[in-house]
Amino acid sequence: MKKREINSVRTPVYRDSGFELPTAAATSGAFAAETGHEREPDMYIYSRYRNPTVVAAEEAVMEVEGCGWALLAQSGMAAIDIALSIFQEAGKQSNWLFFSEIYGGTLSYIGSVLQKRRGMDVSFFRPVDGRYDYRQLENALSDIRPDILYFETISNPLLIVAEGRRVIELGKKYGAKVIVDNTFATPLLWKPLDDGADMVIHSATKYLSGHGNLTAGVICGNDTNLMQSAIEYRKYVGHMLSPDDAYRLQTQMASFELRYRQQCDNAAAVASMLKSSDLVAGVLYPGLESHDTHEAAKELTGGKGYGAMIAFDLAGASPEAKRKNRDRFIAAVYPEIRLIPTLGDNHTILMPVEAVWGTKYPEPGMIRLSVGYEKTDRLAEIIGRGLKG
Ligand SMILES: *Cc1c(COP(=O)(O)O)cnc(C)c1O
Repeated sequence: MKKREINSVRTPVYRDSGFELPTAAATSGAFAAETGHEREPDMYIYSRYRNPTVVAAEEAVMEVEGCGWALLAQSGMAAIDIALSIFQEAGKQSNWLFFSEIYGGTLSYIGSVLQKRRGMDVSFFRPVDGRYDYRQLENALSDIRPDILYFETISNPLLIVAEGRRVIELGKKYGAKVIVDNTFATPLLWKPLDDGADMVIHSATKYLSGHGNLTAGVICGNDTNLMQSAIEYRKYVGHMLSPDDAYRLQTQMASFELRYRQQCDNAAAVASMLKSSDLVAGVLYPGLESHDTHEAAKELTGGKGYGAMIAFDLAGASPEAKRKNRDRFIAAVYPEIRLIPTLGDNHTILMPVEAVWGTKYPEPGMIRLSVGYEKTDRLAEIIGRGLKG
């Protein structure tokens, strides 16, 4: 088999599961070096440990995030599993504090893995009337003294924006490691590591890859010990991303800022359209002054943008009438806008909130929109079709 060096610009897809090692001595050296968990190994050994295409995609994320380490995993949930599991120590009694308004899968992970299978103590911090009360947060931190404080910058589906800097500051004051799931805000709106967060997680399935064509997660950080511990855990649990997905992520990251900027602009335009329609009972979008956490969002992002997610509620005299109007809206915007249970795709997609969250968010006419980067005029036309009485 002839070995070829090709002058390609991007790091290609290295699908090798094992890499050729020249000698027995080099093999011992490579394995010894691997136990050091350096960010980029001198010599690749086995793709579950480290893969050059994955490292190239990690570098693409580091550039956007402006951080020293990024670790890819095969889903956002795998990234969350790594980020949390490295803090578990045998025999150590610890309590972790989670914001209650976090991704449903993360809540299920907490229940099904941390509590049910690992016997962890966890506590939840809940918002009151659509916003967080930071005095209550401080009380909780001072009572519980958690090892971990975990929150999302912009919540799902109510889009409650946390005063991120304040949360980090409070967490640090009480000795917690602070982990931020920044999937919705992305590094374009806020970089929590710059404000002292210990780790930032993204579901790269969403805006970072941005085309609905791969599943991936990433952990970003600057603390070498933590990140090396994460590399070790990823290696033994086998949470490594595939080189094919890493290649797509690497190339799609190049357009991330352009895409997300347009998505935020489109979302602002759609939110104000919805707001001015009689058929809509309420619109939740952090960019609207009417949103309970508009000021928090403005302060956090410096007005750079308010994300590309919107939740709105179709009007109706009864729950049944609201559901009917919801379904009519969904039918009217089809096929350009479809019911797809993800977000951060390139085209606008929607989810009926009641179908996913049941009675947790009790407005039966509520729809969650993940706004894409279509031309704004075209998108307005499609939404306008949904808003025709
Ligand atoms: C989707 C999502 C996740 C989970 O990511 P997967 O890639 O689906 O595993 C975690 N957090 C947030 C905020 C998400 O939207």
